[in-house]
Amino acid sequence: MSINVLFAAKAERWVTYEPTLNQAFGELGLDVNLRTQMPPEKVDYIVYAPNSDLQDFTPYKQVKAVLGLWAGVEDVVGNQTLTQPFARMVDEGLTRGMVEWVTGHVLRHHLGMDMHVLGQDGQWRDHVPPLATDRSVTVLGMGALGQACAEALSFLGFAVTGWSRSPKDIAGVTCLSGDDRLNEALSGAQIVVLLLPSTPETENTLNAETLALLEPGATVINPGRGPLIDDDALLEALNSGQVGHATLDVFRVEPLPPTHPYWSHPNVTVTPHIASETRPLSASRVIAENVRRGEAGEGFINLVDRKLGY
Ligand code: NAP
Repeated sequence: MSINVLFAAKAERWVTYEPTLNQAFGELGLDVNLRTQMPPEKVDYIVYAPNSDLQDFTPYKQVKAVLGLWAGVEDVVGNQTLTQPFARMVDEGLTRGMVEWVTGHVLRHHLGMDMHVLGQDGQWRDHVPPLATDRSVTVLGMGALGQACAEALSFLGFAVTGWSRSPKDIAGVTCLSGDDRLNEALSGAQIVVLLLPSTPETENTLNAETLALLEPGATVINPGRGPLIDDDALLEALNSGQVGHATLDVFRVEPLPPTHPYWSHPNVTVTPHIASETRPLSASRVIAENVRRGEAGEGFINLVDRKLGY
């Protein structure tokens, strides 16, 4: 008998994902009936994007798992009707994209590239940048994305410190964990990369107090989530020079309103939530693997801990 999988996401996603999901199910030998509409009582699995029309999971009584297409889950964890196992997206393609975006922006600031890219004015500025070994980078959040970025930056030679909730042991990275080690992780950091999830505990992780711990003129790079930063405190730190530059990909309100002071600040780079995206084929293989596991009675991968909120 076919496995019934409901695809619940925006219509344009269906066009992209229908062929890759069917390919991935086929690769695992799964006989799947993949549809955008189906009687709720017949659905075995839901492939899910939080911005889809499906918000009430109550009628889906037989569903074995809801398989998210997004890495961030803050819009879903509070949904009381979602009682089935819920897996978020951990996708090799998304991780690789984030590593490229983060290393690119770290290197931009480390090498002072703007001086030359924006300064073609006939002046011979012979400032030689330090080596990566002399540059301290702190990565807040050492999950799938933070860990991969920390490892890549360490491979390039940066002095990398990582901070997470639970302890980690990663070659080449100084790993700190728990609330009481955050100040240590930030003290003297020259570049800070935020890859924490958005939860009540992580809101305003960078605030007036913690920004003051950074080396004066530090760079803040946020591809995590907007609420991780107290925006007023960051703008004040940018104006005082405590923060030299902020490269921000995510915001409390998206799209970032045209009148927001970040747009016009000379030391802020705004990117429109494009740091990394789920890649359809590799993401489809992750979804298919979870369906295979569900059918084989094995545990699902990438399950969200609703109590922790990520
Ligand atoms: P993840 O695997 O869940 O990792 C989250 C990390 O944050 C873990 O290391 C976790 O600690 C740590 N953490 C959570 N709460 C904490 C707390 N209270 N104190 C200290 N550390 C805490 O998530 P991920 O896949 O790496 O993704 C991270 C975030 O990136 C996502 O939540 C999403 O918001 C964002 N994202 C952005 C884009 C973009 O294009 N801009 C794309 C994808 C994802 P433990 O290791 O101890 O659990």
